[in-house]
Order: sequence, then structure tokens, then C-alpha cells
Amino acid sequence: MKAAVYSGPEKIQVKEVKRPGCGRGEILIKVYFCAICGTDVRIYLHGHKKVTPPHIIGHEIAGKIAELGKGVKGYQRGEHVTVVTSIGCGRCKLCREGYYNLCPDGQAIGYKYPGGFAEYLLVPKEAVAQKAVLKIPENVSLLEASIIEPLSCCINGQSYLNIKNDDNVAIFGAGPIGMMHLELARAIASKTFLIDISEEKLKFAQEHFSADYFINAQKEGLIKKILSLTDNSGVDVAIVAASAKTAQQQALKITGRKGRISFFAGLPKDDSIINFDSNLLHYQEISLFGSFASYREEYEEALELIGSRRIVAKKIITHLFPLRKIEEGIRIIREGKALKVVLQCSEEENEIKG
Ligand SMILES: [Zn+2]
Ligand SMILES: [Zn+2]
Repeated sequence: MKAAVYSGPEKIQVKEVKRPGCGRGEILIKVYFCAICGTDVRIYLHGHKKVTPPHIIGHEIAGKIAELGKGVKGYQRGEHVTVVTSIGCGRCKLCREGYYNLCPDGQAIGYKYPGGFAEYLLVPKEAVAQKAVLKIPENVSLLEASIIEPLSCCINGQSYLNIKNDDNVAIFGAGPIGMMHLELARAIASKTFLIDISEEKLKFAQEHFSADYFINAQKEGLIKKILSLTDNSGVDVAIVAASAKTAQQQALKITGRKGRISFFAGLPKDDSIINFDSNLLHYQEISLFGSFASYREEYEEALELIGSRRIVAKKIITHLFPLRKIEEGIRIIREGKALKVVLQCSEEENEIKG
């Protein structure tokens, strides 16, 4: 089969590799689409502690069941599916509650296990047993299904924030994740602010999405501006979907009383210490939440939102490339010229709509 093999920082090569066999309890998926995640870009650039090269990465997968291992029940060949990335140990307290994404001994597809930048992906038996393979109904195309994973992560992030009708919500970061957060928040909140430091990204966002305000944090005095637009009370919710210390610090400053903040994006692992006035949290009763990956129910919710077109996948997906152009896809993401870039990993396909 064809696969994009990552062999170390800035080295990825599309070549023929052995197609995995499908053993007992496993499911083999023919991958039609696999979207490129910000994390894939970071792995490509710097490596990752859970990825040992040579390896196939990619975890935003949509495909069809090609083979079912012995003993697998409830699925059929040809069914359209996506896969939950996180695999838990299945025994710890978090796993027992279904939070495989937070299992301390957790593993993931596209990290420890080979991922979706290939023609075929083998779902390990642990994942199959945890119901990681999720069926895609007919009203969602496989291309649209490739953004279920990132959307489910946004749903996880917002699950902590209790966004209400009269809330003002600020989102830092006009990338694909920021735009999905905006779409989710806008459906509920009274006012939304989209903040970035790239004029180009803000311009693109303004042309294709709605927010009440698009703010360039580098050009305009952000804190003053937000205060003036919120009767001096600050925002109720701030979501940091940008991997930047400054954005985290600004979020703490623009959030008002009883506000909720999500540090959705992580910082580089060797540069993740920030300074802030903790009295901001104390006196104003601000809550600060983290968010990491997602779990199966949130994939189902994401699927539902895409199927009902409350989230329009085609607005988020700006580029579709064949697998062999993976490096070009990564490049345009780095240059800030794309929202979601999806790779088409299998060619013959006329049933796929969209
Ligand atoms: Zn992802
Ligand atoms: Zn566990």
C-alpha cells in the first residue's frame, strides 16, 4: 500500500509499504481521507515523544471497512467509518468512566499506533473493544467525516465552559480549530470576538465566517478594545486556540467576573511556563480549564452537528490534496494559507460525494 512515512524532523516520504494484515479482534480500514492536524505539523517539524520514526502518523480519519478480524461483531465490510484516536488501558478510573483520552497509560492511533496517512489503517483490538470505530451515516460524506475528530476536541473544550445566551465569547486563533470554536460558540453566545495576529487569517475569517468583531491583537490594544466593547466588564468566556503564551496571558486579562477560560491549545513542551497574576482568578472567580483530545460521545456529537449542517464541514476544509502532496499540505498550513487541509489517501472512488 501507499503510505506517507515520517522518518524524523522535516522528513516524510510517500512510498510503498506492507499492507497490515487483519488479525483477531482487529478492523482494517481503507482510508479515503485523513486531515492534517496542527499536531501532525508539529510532529513533522519537531518529533513527538509518543512517535518513534519511521512511522505513519495522521489521526483525522475517514474510510471504509476493508476487513474484519475474527470475532469482531456489529460491523460490516464496506461500512463508512471514522476512528476515535485515544485508546485507554480500560482499567483505570478515567477509562471506566469512558475518558480514554485522559488515561495515564493511554495510547493513540497516529502516535504509538500507525495512523491514517496511508491507504489502509489497522485498528488495534484494544481500540475495537473500546468501540473506537464509529459508523458514518449516509448524510455525512467521508470528506466531511474527516473533521469529526478535531470538531470533537472543540466540543470537549467547550464542555467545560457552560456558554450561555447572554455570554460574550472571545476566541484566540483564526485557524481551523478557532473557526470551529467560533461556529460552536456563535450558536449560543450573544457576542463573539475572533482574535489573531495575522491580518491575512483575519481577513479570510471575515470573508467566510461571522463573528461580531475580528480583532488583530498586534495592531489594536486588545485589552482596552475588549473592555470598551463589553461595557468594561470583560468577556465571559475566552478560548485560547493558539499555541502562544501571550494569548494565554491576554485571555486572563480580558476575562471578567465569573468568567471561564479554556487553554485549548498546548504550548511547546520545552517552553510552557507562563506568568500571571493569580489574584485575577481569585477575586473575580475566574475558572481556568484545560482540554485534551476527546472521547467517543463527543465524536458522536460532532457527527450529529456535521450531519445537521449546524457545522458546515466544507467551510472548514479549504484544501484537498492527494496523499503524495502531504508536504505541500503541511507547508501551506505553516504559511497560514489554509484552514483544514485534507489528504485523499485512496484513489478509486466514485461513490464519495463532496
Ligand atoms: Zn487532530
Ligand atoms: Zn486507563
